[in-house]
Amino acid sequence: IGSVSRSSWPVALGFDVRNRKARRMTASARHGLDLVHQFSDLQAHRNGETTTIVRGEGVHVFDAEGNRYIDAMSGSSCASLGFRDERLVQAMTEQAGKLPYYHLFAQKSHEPAERLARQLSAMAPEHLNHVLFANSGSESNDAAIRIVRAVNISRGKPEKRRVIARHAGYHGSTTLSASVTGQAHMRFGSDSVSPDVSFIPEVCHYRHGHDGESEEAYAARCAAELEAAILAVGPDTVAAFIAEPVMASAGCLLPPKGYFQLVDEVLRRHDVALIADEVVCALGRLDSPFGSTRYGLRPDLMTLAKPLTGGYFPLSAVLMTDEIYDTLTLESAKSGLLGHGLTYGGHPIGCAVASAALEIYAQADFRANLHATIATFERHLAAIADCPIVGETRNAGLLGALEIVADKTTRRRFDAMENVTLKIGRALQKNGVITRWTRETVNLCPPLVISEDELEVLFGALRASLDQVAAEVA
Ligand code: PLP
Repeated sequence: IGSVSRSSWPVALGFDVRNRKARRMTASARHGLDLVHQFSDLQAHRNGETTTIVRGEGVHVFDAEGNRYIDAMSGSSCASLGFRDERLVQAMTEQAGKLPYYHLFAQKSHEPAERLARQLSAMAPEHLNHVLFANSGSESNDAAIRIVRAVNISRGKPEKRRVIARHAGYHGSTTLSASVTGQAHMRFGSDSVSPDVSFIPEVCHYRHGHDGESEEAYAARCAAELEAAILAVGPDTVAAFIAEPVMASAGCLLPPKGYFQLVDEVLRRHDVALIADEVVCALGRLDSPFGSTRYGLRPDLMTLAKPLTGGYFPLSAVLMTDEIYDTLTLESAKSGLLGHGLTYGGHPIGCAVASAALEIYAQADFRANLHATIATFERHLAAIADCPIVGETRNAGLLGALEIVADKTTRRRFDAMENVTLKIGRALQKNGVITRWTRETVNLCPPLVISEDELEVLFGALRASLDQVAAEVA
């Protein structure tokens, strides 16, 4: 192949596929099928149900037909500053004009990565002082798991490598991060459960609390479930527990009161590391710098992504303790290098835009506005809880969800075949709001810069869509 030109290679290979391919391309272009969408219903794309987004401004995105939507999910929970923040665009443009690419391999470094690591360790919980960059939330969780395992190998405990995760948790779409994801339908192509992973139930007092059981008592029961899972496989085999402070994509599942304090005791007792997946929760979303600070987690490793660059560039980070960093340094001395790296991990444009985003998140005005926005968001959520198919509304800061039920008193769910949340999501889009849903919930994760008026419009559309679907399924 090396010596033939690209346009002639099908012929050179002995078969002329050009006509066949041209015919197929016409058909696929008609259906937009040359692009394989992700976490998307591919059959729906074949049926022409594709919304092509062409432009963004503030909390709005516009499709190719000129329709305007409030994006109540901040894209994929990342566009915290909306879809066209000029400060971020400028930071990217300036960096692209100066050093559009460099890596962090082989003793090379660059200023945007060094500056961002400094900013992150300055704002992170006191004991997390070192930052490793990657491109995505998935990769940062992979790296965190690899690091915990490498540290245990270095401590002479190679068998201590198992990870405990929770059902309904989402940690990513690479092989390793998917293996600790507790949503079976999101583990495409992976074995149903990896031998190195154990799952425990998700936490949700509304769904799993017993009649009359306080949140505190429920938290103690959940912590006991975690300890039982560790004991079942043997503490000598368990390396880490991975958890989102608030389970975001599962439908804003909040930790019951006191949960993470009890979890911490269990983990310390059995020498198990805590990986806090803060890919969604960090950087203001929960009205706090990190979910860990809000809920009292003391993670050994913390992963960050989405709002880090406001979604404008793929970048993620793993924050770690001095102790872990020192062990990695010792290990790298043995072989001459840390055996982990990504060509684009800590990309200068991503780091530059992240530095600009962190400066905005830290501004006093920004935080004051966010605080007021959250109060309005909570008022709307409380009001919409009276809809006949809303069992509960939940939120932590500007992350929220509506639990959809067929019967408010018994908390009975709709039959899966009724696709009620899908119907609500579709109605909402027709009413000018884009959101995401699970089988049980409608999720909300609007840009942190959403205004009071825009929240009014969002919740107006939400109520109209809920009423419409409630009437349909009654
Ligand atoms: N962790 C959490 C909590 C997430 O919500 C996500 C993505 O939705 C990920 C990890 C994976 O991030 P990415 O899609 O950037 O790989």
